[in-house]
Amino acid sequence: MITIYALCGGYLELPYESMIRDASPSRWTVPIECFLIDHPRGRLLFDTGLHCDTLTNMLGRYGPERATRFGVHSKAGDDVVSQLARVGLEPADVPFVANSHWHFDHCGGNEFFPQATIIVQQREMDAARSPELLAQGKYRPSPKDYDHPLRYHAVDGDHDVFGDGSVVLIPTYGHTPGHQSLLVRRGRDERLLFTADACYTRENMDRDILPTVVWDEREMSHALGRLRDLRDKQGAMTVYGHDPAQWRTLRQAPAPMA
Ligand SMILES: [Zn+2]
Repeated sequence: MITIYALCGGYLELPYESMIRDASPSRWTVPIECFLIDHPRGRLLFDTGLHCDTLTNMLGRYGPERATRFGVHSKAGDDVVSQLARVGLEPADVPFVANSHWHFDHCGGNEFFPQATIIVQQREMDAARSPELLAQGKYRPSPKDYDHPLRYHAVDGDHDVFGDGSVVLIPTYGHTPGHQSLLVRRGRDERLLFTADACYTRENMDRDILPTVVWDEREMSHALGRLRDLRDKQGAMTVYGHDPAQWRTLRQAPAPMA
């Protein structure tokens, strides 16, 4: 039996119109979501959230531009290591970590998992290590979040984490060069889909509207369509990447979400 825990990685305040591109400018606060998948063969952590230093020193960690664009509304304990402790675990109890992508709110806690295998799409890794591509300025990861002596495992496309088809990383490129989402199959019929930033909110999927933070529009639209099919045609319970309304309805750790 697979058990899933929703871990609160804190909250970010940001421009609403960056998530819903036709919205009037305003600020809103969104959750940073991490998920622990407890499988009989081991555990997978999907995303590591913000680095704990961002709670107290966003400016020092990321500089003035991001400190102005983003407000951090997290409290002590809203970091992934503290959240794991809520379910009685330490980083060493988690053999697999996956990053949906390498934006700072999804891989900030990577450095705390030196024993884990960290699964990232090859395309994300190649892009983050290409000076020419980074110089274009459309994809802006922060090396201080992921560039540590960690055991990265690059994958290309679908990746079946435990080899039984129940926990599968699926490529959803477009938000960033190598974004991936997570599909969990439980029992015969139950599917849970964790979109991460391939779909920020339910509104993005329902209205087929992209954010402004996009690496490749065509690829991101295609990925959004694939995710919508999983939700609407295959009945996958869908957890969006940064949806405040949905987050309030999810049971958070230490209780299992599902
Ligand atoms: Zn994000």
